[in-house]
Amino acid sequence: MATISATKRSSRLPGFYRLSLAERVAVVARWASLDKAEQKTLMEQGLTAAHAGQMIENGLGTFALPLGVAVNFLINDRDYLIPMAVEEPSVVAAVSHAAKLVRAGGGFHTEATAPVMIGQVQVLDVHNLAAAAGAILQNKAALMAAADDCSTSIVRRGGGSRDVQVRAFDQSPVGPMLVVHLLYDTRDAMGANAINTAVEAIAPMIEELSGGRVNLRILSNLTDRRLATARCTIPVAALEHREMDGAVVARQVAEANAFAVVDPYRAATHNKGIMNGIDAVCVATGNDWRAIGAGAHAYAARDGQYRALTDWHVDENGDLFGEITLPLAVGIVGGATRVHPTAQVVMKILDVGSATELAQVMAAVGLAQNLAAIKALATTGIQHGHMRMHARQVALAAGARAEQVDEISAQLIADKNIRVAYARELLMQT
Ligand code: NDP
Repeated sequence: MATISATKRSSRLPGFYRLSLAERVAVVARWASLDKAEQKTLMEQGLTAAHAGQMIENGLGTFALPLGVAVNFLINDRDYLIPMAVEEPSVVAAVSHAAKLVRAGGGFHTEATAPVMIGQVQVLDVHNLAAAAGAILQNKAALMAAADDCSTSIVRRGGGSRDVQVRAFDQSPVGPMLVVHLLYDTRDAMGANAINTAVEAIAPMIEELSGGRVNLRILSNLTDRRLATARCTIPVAALEHREMDGAVVARQVAEANAFAVVDPYRAATHNKGIMNGIDAVCVATGNDWRAIGAGAHAYAARDGQYRALTDWHVDENGDLFGEITLPLAVGIVGGATRVHPTAQVVMKILDVGSATELAQVMAAVGLAQNLAAIKALATTGIQHGHMRMHARQVALAAGARAEQVDEISAQLIADKNIRVAYARELLMQT
């Protein structure tokens, strides 16, 4: 099969959604130079029960999720196909639609900080918090050197300790507490193991310096030193929606965002929509989506009130500007990424060269997913687009076979009765 050079390939794949499953896999295989075995891994479940049983305890088998690919993504002038593992209908179609709108304005522009994680050491029974903090800070260099001794390979790659910081809590439910932070660049790893090893290694030194007793030694999932940002500008003309003027759509999207800036009840749903996209890429790439979710939601509450992770406003030209910044501690080595056969094929399709590039792609996906949701909400409402896919799920839940799903779901929509009981009735008539 002829392959496409990485610089020439476009993620604009008109009509991709109309192809059969085998045709879609063939297109992606050509795009990402996947061999037959890799294509088979995508189409048949990559992870066997035996393999899964080696990954966790008390294994019984596997739990499969749909894997799709989002199209139209242009990020920093490079085209990406975005593999997403998600059970919720409409997520992949919605994010692809939003990426197409963003493309009309030149695509996403992204950046990321260095992949610096925070390891925490909890110190109790400290007689003098200020003196203990001073002793620890005076010995910062020795602590950082000891932490660096734990992973020569990360240090060799340019990562390792970056700083030691101390936070004092005069009061807690168990009395005064000192918390030591080790800032550590984990390069292309999510870094849980490197960080946890390092804080365990320096804990005895911290006990000696502080005169206290160490309890917990563990990374923080509020990785606010490891941020990714994505921005985009959508020309107002591209936002025209049926009889709605583009300027009205832009204004109503900005109003929708403002709702989630001031109201935590709305912000929770707004940010959940962002994570629909980010989590799906996390799962597909074998990253830890619980860690990413914990970090994102904690960061959304960083000023004391839980808020939207995004900003959308109408810029001075009347176009719609969007921006997201969030912590994204994701890796391209280690964890399940290297162990799960499907995640390995997914990484080949994504073709990212570093953990920070993956974080930037995920930030762009989060921003696009959010745009799709709030644009739908601010125009026709979310149910309009949702119903077609919902009807398919209802047909499946009623027991429709793959070849019956199109017909049954179309009938459910036509009869405006999208219910499992009605789908069963229709199935009995076929
Ligand atoms: P791994 O330990 O599997 O992989 C990271 C290791 O790979 C590094 O420590 C390094 O080890 C090696 N390595 C090889 N190449 C590179 C490179 N280019 N850059 C950086 N390191 C490289 O995975 P992680 O430490 O990333 O841990 C991720 C897992 O930890 C996830 O599965 C997560 O679920 C889990 N976890 C999460 C927690 C949380 O979020 N609270 C807590 C505990 C675990 P070496 O230096 O030895 O070569």
